[in-house]
Amino acid sequence: EGMKAASSFKSFGRSPVDSKWSDTTPYAAKKKLTSWFQLPDGNWELGTVLPTSGNETLISLAEGKVLTVNSENLVPANPDILDGVDDLMQLSYLNEPSVLYNLQYRYNRDMIYSKAGPVLVAINPFKKVPLYGNDYIEAYKSKSVESPHVYAITDTAMREMIRDEVNQSIIISGESGAGKTETAKIAMQYLAALGGGSGIEYEILKTNPILEAFGNAKTLRNNNSSRFGKLIEIHFSETGKLSGAEIQTFLLEKSRVVQQSEGERSYHIFYQLCAGAPPILREKLNLKNANEFNYLRQSNCYTISGVDDAEQFHVVMEAMDIVHVSKEDQESVFTMLAAVLWLGNVSFTVVDSENHVEPVADEGLINVATLIGCKVEELKLALSTRNMIIRNENIVQKLTQSQAIDTRDALAKSIYSCLFDWLVEQINKSLAVGKRRTGRSISILDIYGFESFERNSFEQFCINYANERLQQHFNRHLFKLEQEEYIYNGIDWAKVDFEDNQDCLNLFEKKPLGLLSLLDEESTFPNGTDLTFANKLKQHLNSNTCFRGERDKAFMVSHYAGQVVYDTTGFLEKNRDLLHLDSIQLLSSCTSHLPKAFASSLLTQSEKPVIGALYKSGGADSQKLSVATKFKGQLFQLMQRLEKTTPHFIRCIKPNDFQSPGIYNQGLVLQQLRCCGVLEVVRISRSGFPTKMSHQKFARRYGFLLLDHVASQDPLSVSVAILHQFNILPDMYQVGYTKLFFRTGQIGILEDTRNRT
Ligand code: ATP
Ligand code: MG
Repeated sequence: EGMKAASSFKSFGRSPVDSKWSDTTPYAAKKKLTSWFQLPDGNWELGTVLPTSGNETLISLAEGKVLTVNSENLVPANPDILDGVDDLMQLSYLNEPSVLYNLQYRYNRDMIYSKAGPVLVAINPFKKVPLYGNDYIEAYKSKSVESPHVYAITDTAMREMIRDEVNQSIIISGESGAGKTETAKIAMQYLAALGGGSGIEYEILKTNPILEAFGNAKTLRNNNSSRFGKLIEIHFSETGKLSGAEIQTFLLEKSRVVQQSEGERSYHIFYQLCAGAPPILREKLNLKNANEFNYLRQSNCYTISGVDDAEQFHVVMEAMDIVHVSKEDQESVFTMLAAVLWLGNVSFTVVDSENHVEPVADEGLINVATLIGCKVEELKLALSTRNMIIRNENIVQKLTQSQAIDTRDALAKSIYSCLFDWLVEQINKSLAVGKRRTGRSISILDIYGFESFERNSFEQFCINYANERLQQHFNRHLFKLEQEEYIYNGIDWAKVDFEDNQDCLNLFEKKPLGLLSLLDEESTFPNGTDLTFANKLKQHLNSNTCFRGERDKAFMVSHYAGQVVYDTTGFLEKNRDLLHLDSIQLLSSCTSHLPKAFASSLLTQSEKPVIGALYKSGGADSQKLSVATKFKGQLFQLMQRLEKTTPHFIRCIKPNDFQSPGIYNQGLVLQQLRCCGVLEVVRISRSGFPTKMSHQKFARRYGFLLLDHVASQDPLSVSVAILHQFNILPDMYQVGYTKLFFRTGQIGILEDTRNRT
């Protein structure tokens, strides 16, 4: 059990009546008699309060149990009539047990989608639910159904893109296994149904099986876990049809290629290739069964229940045909995969008294050389020596066993990640063909969720940093900007507090004393180690409230979603991500075209400054951007892109840790709801005015519906006249200095009338 997310959060430590969630009305004043009572195991049970006198309260629970409780430990329940409401905003009492109960009520009836104000909450059903397909798509398109759905939110994005002429984004978040990738596909399915012509919609959908084969793997938490982040920008023509797409990927987990934990797998494509390659290809690539390759053998896990890898291989090949990866290129891709697998079988033997090694000239070595197209001797040298220039002299250093293994694994990881990037590039070329430059797009972001395991390494560090950034985007849009706008417009408004995560972001990003800067600095020191790095953090960051030094090489960060202890083992190496020049030169000397392409992309990557010093003293002579810095740059770019769009948020929730249908673990769900601020969003939406429109726009859009002549034609007067004509109640809107603000649902009446006219 690697995943211990739940245990790292203080689950039920707080008093059941948390002032933050409870209603302000004193409970005793309420006539309602049903109430939530928290059991010792943390779960809530519904009970009926029996009339008594004094401070004591009797509550009757299920099965005739009657308990004497302190009335302070009770939380009011909603009337039955509100059971399973679509939108949590409709609850009369907004408290944690009521929200949990409402979501569970729906979940038990396969209503896996609910709204939390503007946010769509999706609870993973872990089974097929009858909510998808053309009939549903049509129903949502024609608006004949209203219940919350990915289709509905995608439809809204589509409409707003056209109405406001602003690009849109659908931002999907949630823990590993919560359903982000499936949700992204469902949104894509809806957009694809709008059609495009020339089959572009079909092409866009077919990118999914390819990217999943190369970028997803079985982990302990999810049999199909994405090990990279993905943004797909879908382009539209003037008529609202699909015209193309562009995919950007983030930080693929390379280490998985050479190493996996027990019970996990490497990337799906390796097993698919081994199981599904047709005989001719098998022979050509010298393929064996997965269990004969060291890289796949170490974790003792080859299959996924319910998945046929051989069959999947054909799905992937077909998908590659559709996105125009030529048969020849496909074969090159499979050849590189086989080369990676055979690299793992290369072993070393000691050749001198100083423990220097050379690769054993066996089947493994020969196969790698043949597959990548180089001489066996060249490969041998690249794997057992390192060229260095010291004081203008070329020195050849021989490698020890562990250095040679690191060199071999680094080569395998580089080939694989280059292959992944190359594939994405090919897909993008194909998807760009039909792109007409209207500039309108909807982007869908499916990025790894917050991770907190027993042992957290560099990967979790980057992933959780990305999540801090995304959380800030979420906060900014749903709390900060919203409230600033109310104030700017002079609206009556009681401020809602939210958890600001700026401190934690500063901890990461501050220069020169932030986690990322210190990591880069230490990575450039030839003598820097994980321990010196950990000590440096403790020395400089201990005063930061989000940071705490831990024992040995560890440190703790207080993330918005909980505290995570990171073990710095491997941080520097992973951040440097060295590939020695010898390996790059080897690739560029190869006769097949892919290794050559990889070598040149590795060389251009290397030209950027940052950790140059290290390379000079460490052996290779190129300069390279550190992994963390590159990732930070990508994230900043991503945020800039997203800032220019209207965001739509989907929060995926994992109801249990077993990937099983029908199990709803209240504690687990609550912890996820809390960490992503869903309840605050409901509160702010309930008391706020989520729909807004400038006076001008409102007058222009609905002015023609006016029955009576309005004396003044200024936008404000026209707007007010419209509001009166449609009897919009004073409680339901506010007139700001520049805009009109409406409570949820109000604008719908006007839109309906407008569309009918
Ligand atoms: P990761 O962060 O590990 O990539 P994720 O959030 O992308 O996780 P998914 O891979 O989308 O999670 O979902 C995990 C599994 O849950 C899916 O393989 C599928 O079996 C199931 N699942 C998710 N959403 C749905 C759905 N809407 N209907 C049916 N099954 C679903
Ligand atoms: Mg995923």
